[in-house]
Amino acid sequence: KIRVRYAPSPTGHLHIGNARTALFNYLFARHNKGTFVIRIEDTDQKRNVAGGEQSQLENLKWLGIDWDEGPDIGGNYGPYRQSERGEIYQKYIQQLLDQGAAYYSYETSEELEAQREAQKARGEMPHYEYEFAGLSEEEKQAKIAAAKAKGLKPVVRIKVPKDKIYQWDDLVKGPVQFDSDTIGGDWIIQKRDGMPTYNFAVVIDDHLMEISHVLRGDDHVANTPKQLMIYEYLGWQAPEFGHMSLIINSETGKKLSKRDESVLQFIEQYRQRGYLPEAMFNFITLLGWSPVGESEIFTRKQFIKQFDPRRLSKSPAAFDQKKLEWVNNQYVKAADLSRVADLALANLIDAGLIEPQPSLSTIEWARALVSLFKDQMSYTNQIVELSQIFFNDPKQLDATEMAELQKDEALPTLLAFEKHLRQLQRFTATQIMQAIQMTRQETGVKGRKLYMPIRIAITRSMHGPGIGEAIELLGATKAQQHLTETLQ
Ligand code: GLU
Repeated sequence: KIRVRYAPSPTGHLHIGNARTALFNYLFARHNKGTFVIRIEDTDQKRNVAGGEQSQLENLKWLGIDWDEGPDIGGNYGPYRQSERGEIYQKYIQQLLDQGAAYYSYETSEELEAQREAQKARGEMPHYEYEFAGLSEEEKQAKIAAAKAKGLKPVVRIKVPKDKIYQWDDLVKGPVQFDSDTIGGDWIIQKRDGMPTYNFAVVIDDHLMEISHVLRGDDHVANTPKQLMIYEYLGWQAPEFGHMSLIINSETGKKLSKRDESVLQFIEQYRQRGYLPEAMFNFITLLGWSPVGESEIFTRKQFIKQFDPRRLSKSPAAFDQKKLEWVNNQYVKAADLSRVADLALANLIDAGLIEPQPSLSTIEWARALVSLFKDQMSYTNQIVELSQIFFNDPKQLDATEMAELQKDEALPTLLAFEKHLRQLQRFTATQIMQAIQMTRQETGVKGRKLYMPIRIAITRSMHGPGIGEAIELLGATKAQQHLTETLQ
């Protein structure tokens, strides 16, 4: 029975890398008709942020991911927040203490720091040195009593076996092995505040929740031997592991880090800008996973059908902003106008271009505006840039645009067009196109030479949507005004 989990720490909004982990686990579960579990790993209280859990879950839902068990819906293996599983961890900590696999340790952080410094000075890798090494039982007890008298609370450490190889057959990376001597010595399973550490709690939870496969980021590879150690001490069988390659910024070639400000990294940021969730789902799934064949656009159903963890890539996945825009544009083009228009309207309101409670006629107008630009947009907030001319005073022409208007045919064309535009009975795209045709008949100018001066004079741009529709939406007053200003 396939049971997988996504185990976020609620330290902030959903990051693109974590969203990918969630997505692959989700696809793996759904492909195999298994169970997808969400577990909140909130034992590091200093790093938890208020609202972090809720925001993570909301963003997952927005992406179209659902789960079968989790903190919000419960399930047979709960609780699903580590902070609520204290008693469960305590039981196993006690068991490990009783079986002599773990022990209390009283050093202060200053002492540990001094230990590390001394090791550095000797040119050694930092590692934990057993505090009671070489002491007799009495000396040991005396030391513990002294620490207790000072009010020091102990941590619990697990004994790392000497010269032991920990290995597993990674679903992504193939065989991986670690020598126990590289682990850095006996490590902490319970902190001074009584909270379990990640590497300990994750094993207890994955086992009790009957997780069959652990798919997670490459950054956890070095944690796996520690976790295998706990499985072994408790006599449990470990799940299968798959560590997904890291994501790099294709511009810089560097690992995508939260400090890198050149790309948006949080799902929430994409959502606010009006990216479509199915497009994000599609794009993220292609980060380090490839379907069979050339196509790059898939529905959620198709991904579920095709998902095979053996096609997860060993090499880093490149986060390519241009591809992201391309994928999103495919989805925007295919989406219903009303859906795109609703999102874009919200963006226009946020930008202060349309009043917050627009009238029906404004909504109609905005919808027509969005339909002009829909095929050009990767995300709906682009409407704010694209539709400047409809809201603001026309911008100054740049040198290239100027040069277009200085060509011989431009002036007679614009003068004729202005005249025909004035004579229109109704100001609709069809009528406006007729005015352009009449301009052509009158001046003999055609093609680009005819359209470009008109486009530039009225929309102040050499590119854009259908000229008839654009002029109609701009309205007679503004269109005339832009023309007049250009001709002055
Ligand atoms: N809470 C861990 C993280 O956020 C999960 C690691 C795991 O999946 O084991 O990275």
